[in-house]
Amino acid sequence: MTAVLIDARCTACGACIATCPEHALLRAPRRPFAVDARCTACLACVEVCPVDAIEVNA
Ligand code: SF4
Ligand code: SF4
Repeated sequence: MTAVLIDARCTACGACIATCPEHALLRAPRRPFAVDARCTACLACVEVCPVDAIEVNA
């Protein structure tokens, strides 16, 4: 199953949440929360993240 890892570099800017076409990223207090089952590994969030905090393992 796909795993979306968001590390401590995340500034909680929300860009990935706004970009994900599957709505797999949800707001959480410190950094987004990923609903891995919805992720299609399109990598749009990885490309949009300004601090390179997201890793997607398909
Ligand atoms: S890889 Fe695509 S589908 Fe998966 S969380 Fe990122 S933007 Fe959403
Ligand atoms: S785009 Fe990057 S820095 Fe912004 S909320 Fe998502 S993971 Fe965090």
